[in-house]
Amino acid sequence: MVIKAEEIMRKFEEAGAVQKGHFKLTTGLHSDTYIQCAQVMQYPDFMDNLCSELGKRFRGDDIDVIVGPAVGAIIMAHVMARVLGPWVRAVFTERENGKMTLRRSFMIKEGEKVLVVEDVITTGSSAREVIDIVNSRKGKVVGVGALIDRSGGRVDFGVKTEKLLTIDIKNYLPEECPLCKKGIPLVKPGSHEV
Ligand SMILES: [Zn+2]
Repeated sequence: MVIKAEEIMRKFEEAGAVQKGHFKLTTGLHSDTYIQCAQVMQYPDFMDNLCSELGKRFRGDDIDVIVGPAVGAIIMAHVMARVLGPWVRAVFTERENGKMTLRRSFMIKEGEKVLVVEDVITTGSSAREVIDIVNSRKGKVVGVGALIDRSGGRVDFGVKTEKLLTIDIKNYLPEECPLCKKGIPLVKPGSHEV
């Protein structure tokens, strides 16, 4: 089954994952749209469908480990690993004092083929930090997979990159943000700073 891009967008909207307002993104940039993938991850069947579709594109790549940045990619890595299984591992990185790290005794061994996943690509900076960790462990990053690329396809990781949906959502530097100029209250999604 092939899921069409319009279908994915509609489902994301139905699930309440596409939010409008004035948001401070993890990168510090501001935007009028926020994609809250956690809303989609509430529905395991839908996640299975999405990850089956994305996983197909990496089936020939002989993946050993899937890794993505917490919290967003934890569920995604898990579902993707099941799609690409049976012995594909799912691990995740997390921030410790602001620095992306691999904790919890998770291992990436020398020469292992690694697929980096991220639910939403905005600037790609988190995925790049994950790639750096894999490289430092001498793993081989064979690709990056994302549910949504909201950069309009402008992010280049230098490896095979597959995403289910590419959209172009404008981000603003805080000092240039038109929403700030209009005095619209800024919301940091996923935090209590509302
Ligand atoms: Zn703003």
